Amino acid sequence: MLKDLFMGLSQNQTLNSAAKKYGLKLGAQNVVAGTNIPETIESIKELNAHGISCTVDNLGEFVFNREEATAAKTQILGVIEAIHENGVDASISLKPSQLGLDIDQDFCEENLREIVSKASEYDIFVNFDMEDYGRLKPSFELLDHLSTTYKNVGTVIQAYFFEAEDYMKEHKDFRLRIVKGAYKESPAVAYQDKADIDENFVKLIEWHLLNGKFTSIATHDHHVINHVKKFVKDNNISYDKFEFQMLYGFRKDMQLELAKEGYNFTTYVPFGEDWYGYFMRRLAERPQNMNLIVKQVFNK
Ligand code: FAD
Repeated sequence: MLKDLFMGLSQNQTLNSAAKKYGLKLGAQNVVAGTNIPETIESIKELNAHGISCTVDNLGEFVFNREEATAAKTQILGVIEAIHENGVDASISLKPSQLGLDIDQDFCEENLREIVSKASEYDIFVNFDMEDYGRLKPSFELLDHLSTTYKNVGTVIQAYFFEAEDYMKEHKDFRLRIVKGAYKESPAVAYQDKADIDENFVKLIEWHLLNGKFTSIATHDHHVINHVKKFVKDNNISYDKFEFQMLYGFRKDMQLELAKEGYNFTTYVPFGEDWYGYFMRRLAERPQNMNLIVKQVFNK
């Protein structure tokens, strides 16, 4: 029930626009690193000081005109310059829909090409985040096109999709982030039961750890993390073949602990004014995240 409510709210464009005007509210500041690049660089430096790498996401949803997509591209190019100038340990995560996928795929590809090319000059990795099912095929097409020229690209496999295994096997030579999947999807294309999703998630992780290039295991689920720790030990998989990833502000103690234990660890660092949809999806995944809001209200 709550999941559906927050998922519905995440897609409400009126609330999304209002949220942009009023700045980080409702406890979003606990899970969004800042509204601008300098604030975000400071957050990255703090995480780097603990041996944690970062992947930076310039938040943005509902981009249906070219001006907004171009502005998002300019902002991401600014992040790349800032990463380089500050010498911080960080990569880029982006959403094709923010760069114009819903407007025109060729236009989106040109925007992505500019970003990936600039990042490649500085040896910065660019991850294409995966969105909902309707954008899955075109996003993989964009990745496939760009990867013929650039090697600093990778993407995400969402374990809830029936097609996840096929996509993963076709892209095993890419750096892949494996996740459970965050959007509401139809039973025609995706597992609906948590147990089925978890089972497929572990199956995909194991396969990619054994056969793939580099695996990013992106989860806050300690059952899966503990399973992976044992699996890599039993299979002599070296630590430089994989990393754990979590979202900024979530399970902070566990993030620090994993980095301290010597695992490669990357925190996904979202920033920007367009925090609303991202924040609502986090509440949909785990309504207990509401306690972030409650804390915010009472800690004034
Ligand atoms: P869940 O299934 O949410 O939780 C499993 C169990 O873990 C819970 O029952 C609880 O015991 C424990 N747990 C979870 N969270 C907490 C917490 N905060 N505190 C204490 N215990 C907790 N999705 C996409 O669709 N596309 C993407 O590109 C994408 N990129 C992502 C990048 C990163 C770095 C991460 C971490 C996630 C990303 N996701 C993405 C979201 C992902 O698909 C899941 O929706 C999200 O991570 C929730 O699933 P989970 O694996 O963390 O565990």
